[in-house]
Amino acid sequence: MLNHPLGLSTLEEKYRSPTSIGHLMSLLDTPIENAPRISRRIVPALKHLGIKTIRDILFHFPARYDDFSNLQKISDVKIGDTVTISGAIKKISLHRTARKHMALVEAVISDDSGSLKAIWFNQPFLARNLRVGDVVNLSGKIARGPKGIYLQGPAYEKITNNKWQMANGGGIHTGGLVAIYPETRGLTSRWFRFLVKTFIDQRKFIVDPLPADLRKKHNLQDIQAAIKIIHFPQSKKEPVEARRRFVFEELLLIQLRALHARAELKQHQAPEILLDLELLKKFVNSLPFALTDAQRRSIWEIVKDIEKSKPMNRLLEGDVGSGKTVVAAAAALLASRAGFKTVFMAPTEILAHQHYETLQKILKSFNIKIGVLTSSKKIAEGSDIIVGTHALIQKDVVFKNLGLVIVDEQHRFGVAQRAALARGYSGWLPHFLSMSATPIPRTLALTIYGDLDLSILDEMPKSRKRVITRIIEPGKRNETYQLIRSEVRTGRQVFVICPRIEPPLTNSESGANKRINESAFRSWEVRAVKDEYKKLSEIIFPEFKIGMLHGKLKSKEKEAVMKEFKSGEIDILVSTSVVEVGVDIPNATIMMIEGAERFGLAQLHQFRGRIGRGIEQSYCFLFPTEDGMVTRRLRAVVDAKNGFELAEQDLKIRGPGNMFGTEQWGVSDMALTAITDPVLVREVRLAALEFAREDPALSCAPELKRKLEEMEKRGLYRPSNFAKHIRILQNYWKVRSTTGLPVGLYMRSRISTSWKTMDQFA
Ligand code: ADP
Ligand code: MG
Repeated sequence: MLNHPLGLSTLEEKYRSPTSIGHLMSLLDTPIENAPRISRRIVPALKHLGIKTIRDILFHFPARYDDFSNLQKISDVKIGDTVTISGAIKKISLHRTARKHMALVEAVISDDSGSLKAIWFNQPFLARNLRVGDVVNLSGKIARGPKGIYLQGPAYEKITNNKWQMANGGGIHTGGLVAIYPETRGLTSRWFRFLVKTFIDQRKFIVDPLPADLRKKHNLQDIQAAIKIIHFPQSKKEPVEARRRFVFEELLLIQLRALHARAELKQHQAPEILLDLELLKKFVNSLPFALTDAQRRSIWEIVKDIEKSKPMNRLLEGDVGSGKTVVAAAAALLASRAGFKTVFMAPTEILAHQHYETLQKILKSFNIKIGVLTSSKKIAEGSDIIVGTHALIQKDVVFKNLGLVIVDEQHRFGVAQRAALARGYSGWLPHFLSMSATPIPRTLALTIYGDLDLSILDEMPKSRKRVITRIIEPGKRNETYQLIRSEVRTGRQVFVICPRIEPPLTNSESGANKRINESAFRSWEVRAVKDEYKKLSEIIFPEFKIGMLHGKLKSKEKEAVMKEFKSGEIDILVSTSVVEVGVDIPNATIMMIEGAERFGLAQLHQFRGRIGRGIEQSYCFLFPTEDGMVTRRLRAVVDAKNGFELAEQDLKIRGPGNMFGTEQWGVSDMALTAITDPVLVREVRLAALEFAREDPALSCAPELKRKLEEMEKRGLYRPSNFAKHIRILQNYWKVRSTTGLPVGLYMRSRISTSWKTMDQFA
């Protein structure tokens, strides 16, 4: 609300009572350097905000609004109120404070009910801007001073009889709702409002990308009205509606982009991998376990897809342990028998080898040649299925007759990448199956992954027993230790996770400082582990062997500890939340989590996933800190049926927070926040589908089409962006890699149409 200390307001003063510009011609695309009424001095600040043209000014939306609608008579004001008063300046003077020699502007303003003092610090220029006799609005808080009540540093506005004020019932800085913009140094909201007001009439040259009938159908404001309203709302409800309109447009573009990508892919041919039902049945029967319904459904969705002559583009989502590999193996088997090669890409060497071994085991009786391609091992010649890391596969080999590409944890793969893999690209693209364990909220997936079909493994193999989860209140600690003791006596093992203790913060909320503190955090974490280790080994469980894992150990040391735990020499393993403990230890049946309320829900779920791998019943004990509350969040961990449900809960409880607010998405914060609203997402999706059905060329919405093309040109929503998105998501859920694989969650079930047919091979 304050004026810029460098005296920008003097500049503003030069252009006092601006008449809006733009009745005659469009200045929308005029660069700000060349625009009338924009001082050179603010050009760098505008650029810093990413504002290059007049259009950008109008599309730089407020972050919030100050409510100065409480217009009062001076005689009625009370201490603590935020009010707007309207009156004439009777006196104004500039002083210096005695002690700190600060500039102090004092004014007396009066209306027909009385007079009141207003005081501003550090804005000496006000004494020049405001003169005795000026009629002004002042908006601010009433405070008590030694000499009675006064208005504390109010926003001010001169009231003239200009057209704007007549039409808008007052000013832009005071009275009513006043826009507060995301600011940068050198540019205040006050200055920005002034700019917007100057150019607001330019909105008349903006063509609405949303056709009128669509707006009507979905109850959306037209763009010109929405722009005016979002900057200068008359009521609190108005800008909410305006925002909805812009969000709708943005999400619609993303959806259309996805649908377009879908259509584009359909232009290509893919090998038809005909369904050999006998073979598939034989495969299913050869497995040492019965497939889950979710696995059968997913296999069926995939085999029906690769049968077609259009490239499949599918994401297989499932929590770690839900059995994605078998599903992929079924598809690879069919491809091989049909004479096509499969490439199977893993994110790390370890995982590549693991997949290689798994596939060899699963496909043992089918006479399929499987090769592996990592920096340490290269057997690929003549293989039907080649497993390897992304990097190697992408550069080393020529794949003839490539029919299927399976990618673990990379999510998306563009047409160009597929074509490149197919090297001998002769008019067809391989089918594509992406596998992932990262929790992607459903609404988000529907939006940003709109071009992918989803198959979801929403159940775990029956052999995995459900872990019993309990929240342990401070009074129940000893009882729980007793239970743990008896479990360990029967030979079971225990994980203990220590929370990250927040070190005392120096002075900072700032990003830079946070980064510096990362290493401090690390040390504090190590300390937490050491303390817990000491407590458990000396006081609680002196009779057991206790081990310790933390980030400061060398990898050799870590390996040694893990080996001891695996072999059962160590009974209880204390570790930080960040250490990789991804190894499968079926004998570990207890997970103790200290300071449980400090972890993200998805993260707690991930810890819990480390137990319950054997045949014994497993337990997860959540210990909140002494002063920590047993929150709704912790209860959600106990109650949630699966991890994906939990991820959505987490999103609801915490809000999008740090998941969004980042430019990396290429989507506005506003739109990303809106993505958590399933109703809106659905509505937009239906609108997009309607376009795709009725007017795929967007001939009835040329401006929308132009924007879409622009979006494509700018490279937004390219497949390559998505690896980055997933990292943001993983960070948000604090889901960390264990064996190099983000441990994740899965989505709520989708209804499949293929149930009946599925029974044919089960
Ligand atoms: P992920 O989805 O994490 O990749 P995997 O495919 O590695 O899971 O499977 C995890 C383990 O579960 C493997 O040992 C696999 O053989 C086993 N498995 C897969 N499906 C089933 C099932 N339906 N019943 C029992 N065990 C299964
Ligand atoms: Mg896997």
